[in-house]
Amino acid sequence: LIESFTATKHPRWIRINTIKSTLDAQLSSTFKDFTVVPSISEILASSRREKVLCLDGHVPNLIAVPPGVMDFTKSEAYKRGEIILQDKASCFPGYLLDPRGGEEGDVVDACAAPGNKTTHLAGILAERGEKVTIHAFEKDRNRARTLKKMVGVAGGEGWTVVHAGEDFLRADPAEFKGVGALLLDPSCSGSGIVGRDDLPELHLPEPPGNKSNKVGGGNGGKKRKRAEGGEVGRPEKGVMVDDDGEMMVVSSEKDLQQRIEALAAFQLQIILHAFEFPDAKKVTYSTCSIHAGENEGVTLKALRSEVARRRGWRVFKREEQIRGMREWDVRGELEASEGDKEVAEGCIRAYRDDGRGTMGFFVVMFVRDGTVDGERK
Ligand code: SAM
Repeated sequence: LIESFTATKHPRWIRINTIKSTLDAQLSSTFKDFTVVPSISEILASSRREKVLCLDGHVPNLIAVPPGVMDFTKSEAYKRGEIILQDKASCFPGYLLDPRGGEEGDVVDACAAPGNKTTHLAGILAERGEKVTIHAFEKDRNRARTLKKMVGVAGGEGWTVVHAGEDFLRADPAEFKGVGALLLDPSCSGSGIVGRDDLPELHLPEPPGNKSNKVGGGNGGKKRKRAEGGEVGRPEKGVMVDDDGEMMVVSSEKDLQQRIEALAAFQLQIILHAFEFPDAKKVTYSTCSIHAGENEGVTLKALRSEVARRRGWRVFKREEQIRGMREWDVRGELEASEGDKEVAEGCIRAYRDDGRGTMGFFVVMFVRDGTVDGERK
């Protein structure tokens, strides 16, 4: 009872799956008893069970509600794949990538399970009436199964080819002519993920003959453990859990730095590989980490790489970005961008518990000059 009257730090974010439904249809069905409030601060100030909702002002087709208001996983809309539980910040990469289909060509989601961003990309393409292919790579076979299920429930099969158990780094770019945009969301330290109690969980509707099909927010069914003395993934001494649910012991500051450096080296490899795709014009890179080493640090290294120079990759500037991302006021860290204002402003960040209701997150888009129109809607 006390909990139901306690204000929350983290709302429940619900993305309307535009393959199967519309915002209006959901407002007049699943959310018909809810009162619309103008901003996220009203949601954060409300009790956990109050029937209020806020239409997000940055990402289209996204709603915030108090986390305890109802169990959406039991709703018909959820079971039919019309709504998807996905943190606002996790919607940034798909929205920023803004796949257009048509002449822009096919899309790659390089690190795709459990499929939140894959299905978001499919939703954006569906809304535009575009039938291009999303190549969704997932190296881990178990997680690829979850990805396939999520794509199926969301109705994204018509857009998506799941490359189950395939390592994106081993994909030959020459075989992917016609891929114009890539979304890179590789494994990271997960240090921006909100505490387990608030963690938006992905419960997929049950396929026939399966008893439980519940997947903790992005960890492929492995049980998350709370890092010693802190929230899931918090980079403190003790046990650290990354965003794939892998556990590692971090016994010193040095261990942590080494772990971050190893992740950053892998993340950079993923970006440099994407830069080689012959027809690629747009690449987003994102993490749910708060560490500059995995974020602005990797961004700078990618920009200074031989392939970036050879192929003309640069950061997509803030003023070029789609409206909601241009207007999002939390940008990259200037110091971590070594004082480069254009890079820092082009980078998009989100922090937990800052009153905006998101998890910690980072995303940047790279483009090749002369290939992306300037002003967008
Ligand atoms: N984009 C996903 C979403 O929004 O639902 C979350 C992706 S999670 C952060 C990273 C995923 O990348 C993990 O499932 C991991 O198994 C996968 N992965 C890591 N390295 C990979 C590689 N080289 N090729 C393909 N998948 C990889």
